[in-house]
Amino acid sequence: MNNAKLFIISAPSGCGKGTILSEVFKDSDAYYSVSCTTRKPREEDTDGITYHFMTRDEFESEIKNDGFLEYAEFADNYYGTPRAATEKMLESGRDVVLEIETQGAFQVKKLMPDAVSVFILPPSIKELDRRLHKRGTEDDDTINKRVSQASGEISKAYEYDYVIMNDELDDAIRDLKFIVDCTKNKNSDADRFKAVNMKKNIDEVLKNA
Ligand code: 5GP
Repeated sequence: MNNAKLFIISAPSGCGKGTILSEVFKDSDAYYSVSCTTRKPREEDTDGITYHFMTRDEFESEIKNDGFLEYAEFADNYYGTPRAATEKMLESGRDVVLEIETQGAFQVKKLMPDAVSVFILPPSIKELDRRLHKRGTEDDDTINKRVSQASGEISKAYEYDYVIMNDELDDAIRDLKFIVDCTKNKNSDADRFKAVNMKKNIDEVLKNA
């Protein structure tokens, strides 16, 4: 038994989770899992670094080989967490961070109930839409699809262990860091971020969707 923790982080696209995660884990030796996907690379993607890009055939043969800890279809593409790397890192005592959507998050939580799941809320769906347009990495159709998916994703936030809101980036970084530190040290001070205590915030974002 070692003290390695698995962190599952979910957030709708455009919620700033990439920036938050790189800040929170920058001084730790946590292993940031590189997922496999069948989606097309974007300009900022590098194969093997942001994702392992695969064809559907390659992905489906990996499913048959039991190569994924979890996988899901999201926005017409497959996404999955390579099993071997994740398990090896945890066994070696390193924390592991999975940045995955909700279906995958629940699969992992079922397999590994000690994993810590955190959902990052946008301040509102309108703000999410504005951020995705500002990012400019996708066309309008794709953005509309991602925004309409966001409400569905946010409605799953109630089932996570912890929920934070990315209204101000610095606050979100501080809050996630606090949750990570508290869970590593078995300290209950982060309980105010438990999903049950953040219910009002989740309700509010969904009400204005
Ligand atoms: P994007 O296409 O914007 O990079 O990612 C779309 C969604 O897929 C995001 O919510 C992201 O967190 C999620 N995702 C990325 N990798 C994985 C994975 O390995 N498994 C699952 N289930 N979701 C993933």
